[in-house]
Amino acid sequence: MSDYDVIVVGGGNAAFAAAVSAQENGAKRVVVLEKAPKAQRGGNTHFSGAVFRHIFNDVKELDRFVPDAEEKYPGFHAGVQPYPIAAFREDLMRVTDGRSDPELSKILIEQSYEAMCWLQESGRMKFELAHSVMGIRVGNKMKWPTGAIVRTVHEGVGLSATWFKTAEQLGIEIRYDACVMRLAQSDTGRISGVVVRTPEGIRTLTAKSVVLGCGGFETNPEWRLRYLGSPWDHAKVRGSNFNYGDGLKMALDIGAMPWGHWSGCHATPINAEAPDYGRRDLTDKTNRLSYTYGVMLNVEGKRWIDEGADFNSYTYAKYGGLILKQPRSLVYQVFDSKVLDMLEPRYSTSEPFKSDTLEGLVKQLKVDHRQALKTLNEYNAAAGRGGPFNAAVLDHMHTEGIEPAKTNWAQKLDTPPYVSYPVTGGITFTFGGIKVTKDAQVVASDWKPMPGLYACGEMVGGLFHYNYPLGTGLMSGAVFGRIAGRSAALS
Ligand SMILES: Cc1cc2nc3c(=O)[nH]c(=O)nc-3n(C[C@H](O)[C@H](O)[C@H](O)COP(=O)(O)OP(=O)(O)OC[C@H]3O[C@@H](n4cnc5c(N)ncnc54)[C@H](O)[C@@H]3O)c2cc1C
Repeated sequence: MSDYDVIVVGGGNAAFAAAVSAQENGAKRVVVLEKAPKAQRGGNTHFSGAVFRHIFNDVKELDRFVPDAEEKYPGFHAGVQPYPIAAFREDLMRVTDGRSDPELSKILIEQSYEAMCWLQESGRMKFELAHSVMGIRVGNKMKWPTGAIVRTVHEGVGLSATWFKTAEQLGIEIRYDACVMRLAQSDTGRISGVVVRTPEGIRTLTAKSVVLGCGGFETNPEWRLRYLGSPWDHAKVRGSNFNYGDGLKMALDIGAMPWGHWSGCHATPINAEAPDYGRRDLTDKTNRLSYTYGVMLNVEGKRWIDEGADFNSYTYAKYGGLILKQPRSLVYQVFDSKVLDMLEPRYSTSEPFKSDTLEGLVKQLKVDHRQALKTLNEYNAAAGRGGPFNAAVLDHMHTEGIEPAKTNWAQKLDTPPYVSYPVTGGITFTFGGIKVTKDAQVVASDWKPMPGLYACGEMVGGLFHYNYPLGTGLMSGAVFGRIAGRSAALS
């Protein structure tokens, strides 16, 4: 008899969705193997903003997650547009250049609302409105985008802690400091367990099936250089310092099929002074995503991108990489005082440079001062066309006659004091993964499903290419984790 019915590798959102689902579907002996020690458990999930993107046909469908929304934000029900399947698909396909895996993305989108309900019931999650990152204050009213506005209470810290607590309450075994090194196979080719390094030594644990939910390779500088290229080996890591691509390697080693965008990743503008790996107390607070309201200068003193191309939830995940590739991977976001109270609260975790003049401001920055002032003056001469300024919509307030243009929210920088925040690009997670079936079973490079092996979360290849719509990573982990756990239990 094997040691377990189902072994789940990893301790993040996807792994726990799999573990809880496996138990729900009849697996009696389920173990979660977490490489990190208890104090550093939880992978990227702990660091996340915990915003979940999901479909809903009527805003009232959100009431079960956020029953007090209307009371807290009068006008909430009237102000939020439905987010049907077609809208989610349109967003995902637009930002991924039409490349998102059709079979997997259909499952992800169509099961997203149901997954939220399951997280609430089986995961015992509590939700709230993601007011600090998704709410847009216009006058004394809060405006809401659609699709991704609900998060777990206490963000990723709450999400991760709740998963551990739920699993413990359900009697799922959790082992820390358990670094899975490779997969064990029987003579028939069926996965028979894992080889794991523990403080007690190297052990082989056997199981009827194994679910891999142990993240991408974002922490691994050698793989980042290998697959993403230079200067990704120098990138700061926004989250966990345990995601070295171990699960991908062990699956590829026994013939799993690589799938998806291996040179692609999610990376965002973050405080240039952020630590090399995510800090557990700061979590995602190093993000600097209000660039839509200002301009960004590189160290040559030049703008190089349309800061207002779209809402930041559709540009932030690729702008981090573009910032990283600027000279010295350093960029300055510049704002005037008209928009300071619109900057995300996360900006309060660092002190900006400040001045009453643009000239005084650029002199404090490590940029070509003459060019920077010229750029800002040219921007001011070109800005303010169209509009009026409205942060809640694509307002088409644009520049004329400069390259690159700013196509929305292009107010002039004309109201002192002026402030600037230094930013770099921080990697969040990698897009390259392995191929799975609709049942989350890993597929081998002969196109045959691998008996007894399932994968979920960041390890699933094919969903994201080039870019990513905010709130989809955790939803992918929930949907495919749930499926993987069920399949593993029933296999
Ligand atoms: C700062 C930040 C903010 C984010 N905000 C959001 C958000 O608001 N919404 C959203 O949808 N997504 C967000 N994301 C992305 C989201 O966090 C990830 O997509 C998601 O957490 C991935 O879940 P996962 O379970 O696949 O991986 P992880 O949560 O990273 O878990 C991987 C686990 O595997 C373990 N592990 C690794 N190797 C081994 C091994 N060899 N043996 C055993 N265990 C191993 C790790 O220790 C870890 O526990 C954010 C990410 C970051 C970093």
